[in-house]
Parts: sequence; C-alpha cells; structure tokens
Amino acid sequence: MPRTSTAPRTIECPKCHQQLPAWAEQCQFCKTQLFPGQVRRVDVSTYADRNKPTWTEAAYIVVSVIIVAQGLFMLLQAFNVIPSVFYAIGGGTFFGIFGSIQLLLGVGMLLHQTWAQFIMKWVCVLNIPGGLLGIVQMAFIHNPLTGATNYVGLCVSVLQLCFTCFALFVINKEGDLD
Ligand SMILES: [Zn+2]
Repeated sequence: MPRTSTAPRTIECPKCHQQLPAWAEQCQFCKTQLFPGQVRRVDVSTYADRNKPTWTEAAYIVVSVIIVAQGLFMLLQAFNVIPSVFYAIGGGTFFGIFGSIQLLLGVGMLLHQTWAQFIMKWVCVLNIPGGLLGIVQMAFIHNPLTGATNYVGLCVSVLQLCFTCFALFVINKEGDLD
C-alpha cells in the first residue's frame, strides 16, 4: 500500500538530538520520554527565536528615530515654534535647510534606503573629528566671564560623539551597504 501520510518518519530527541523513529515513545539513546506536545513546543520556540529582532535591528530603528527627531527639532527652531538663539541672529534658513535634510535622511533610514544609509554613514565619519574638537574646546576653553568649565556643554559634546560612533556602528551592522 503506498504511503500517503506526510508525517515525518523520524523525530529528533529534544535532549540528545539523535534522530529517532516517529513512533518512538522513549529515546533509545538517553531514555528521555517523548511526548508529541514536547516535540511541538521545541519547534515553536526555535521559530520564535529566529523571528525575534536582534538588538542591532532595534538600535537601528532607535538611531533612525533620533535622527528624525533631531531634524524635526531643528525645523521647529527654524520656524521659531521653539524659540532659538539661531533664529534670533538670522540663522533660521540655515536651520531649516539642515533640519529638512536630516528629517529626510532619518525617514530614508527608517525605510532602509541605501542612499540615506550611505549619506548618514559619511556624515557620521566626518562628524567624529569635529566632535572630538568640540569636547577639547569645552574641556579647556572656559567661560571668559566666569572662568568656569561648561560642564553641560561638555556632557552634550561627549553624548553627541557617542551617538555619532554608535550610529556609525549600527549603520555598518544593519545597513544594506556592501
Ligand atoms: Zn535522547
């Protein structure tokens, strides 16, 4: 009589991973009792593991969202929705252009566009020397009026550089550039 069943002829022991006949009730190698439900549970968990996003995938989304948020923040400053000193001294257009570009790049990143990843990668690379210089300036050039170190500015500069390096790492890891 032809075999019509599609059931697998062998199953894997969940403990020692030996191939066993599908009808086995007990593993002949390690004596583990086999239950149909046990085999199925193992399958479901490996399936879930395979589809779980990795931390770099999650970081890629976070970095993209931060880039979008920074772009939006610059645009709001450009139109003086958020009061900014740059608008007051006539830098609104500059902020508007940079904010729009950054917003576009962030959205492109979210959509996994290679042009956005390529530009952001090089923006990060070019920002690293400037970021280091900013930290040195904040650390050594003190406020001329009070002579105090600008600790807030120093922290912001350090965080910016960390973010730049992290973004570069994440784009290299999760980006579609080769
Ligand atoms: Zn076994």
